[in-house]
Amino acid sequence: TQVFAQDFDFFYFVQQWPGSYCDTRQSCCYPSTGKPAADFGIHGLWPNYNDGTYPSNCDSRTPYVASKISDLTRRMQSDWPTLACPSGSGQTFWSHEWSKHGTCSESILNQHGYFQAALDLKQQVNLLQILTSAGIQPNDQYYSLDSISQAIAQATGHTPGIECNRDESGNSQLYQIYLCVDTSGASLVECPVLPTGNCSSDVQFPSF
Ligand code: 5GP
Ligand code: 5GP
Ligand code: 5GP
Repeated sequence: TQVFAQDFDFFYFVQQWPGSYCDTRQSCCYPSTGKPAADFGIHGLWPNYNDGTYPSNCDSRTPYVASKISDLTRRMQSDWPTLACPSGSGQTFWSHEWSKHGTCSESILNQHGYFQAALDLKQQVNLLQILTSAGIQPNDQYYSLDSISQAIAQATGHTPGIECNRDESGNSQLYQIYLCVDTSGASLVECPVLPTGNCSSDVQFPSF
């Protein structure tokens, strides 16, 4: 039996709140397909090591090929929208994520499997529903970081990583939620290491 070298230890599944991305000084641009829903969007599915470091750009010989995921395009547009400027369809963002991160798990998930896994994870973990059910709504109010973390931990069974950014006035806003996933890309696991938090103890959950 061939024993393969271990490529990575787990995935970070990272979702972004569009309101917080757009409120930064850098602002944002809606995709050419229209304003995304007021929902968390996928940022990426990132292979990681247990020590917090991560591989990137692992195989330049397997470039992103849009036609390989044409059956997923509609779901990608709604669940993995691009908000960077200038406006695009999303292909540039998805291509970047595949080349930088996806190629580092290609011994397990091919390009189609990689994007499918991320879309299925988003369906499995409805972050907005988890938060609103706990009374945490995107209404420009402030919520304790602990209450956000606890709502997600209770609903998913695992402590999330939470990242903030600052709006133009300097307010700390809920930006990205990190959950950890096993190397198959299918099941949540407890995070071996959490990203260093940069949030204030109370953070704004902006409307979008
Ligand atoms: P930033 O510096 O904006 O936090 O991250 C820039 C980029 O670095 C991210 O979009 C992502 O591609 C990569 N990155 C940042 N932190 C991590 C991490 O903890 N794990 C992995 N795998 N990638 C990361
Ligand atoms: P990372 O390298 O941090 O995984 O991905 C960030 C890269 O994707 C940046 O180059 C950024 O300009 C691009 N990008 C395109 N659309 C988005 C988006 O909606 N959110 C984020 N965070 N980055 C985006
Ligand atoms: P990426 O190289 O690597 O373009 O972007 C570098 C950083 O700037 C990332 O944190 C990315 O999310 C952010 N960024 C890039 N373009 C935009 C944009 O149009 N709007 C916002 N808010 N952030 C951006």
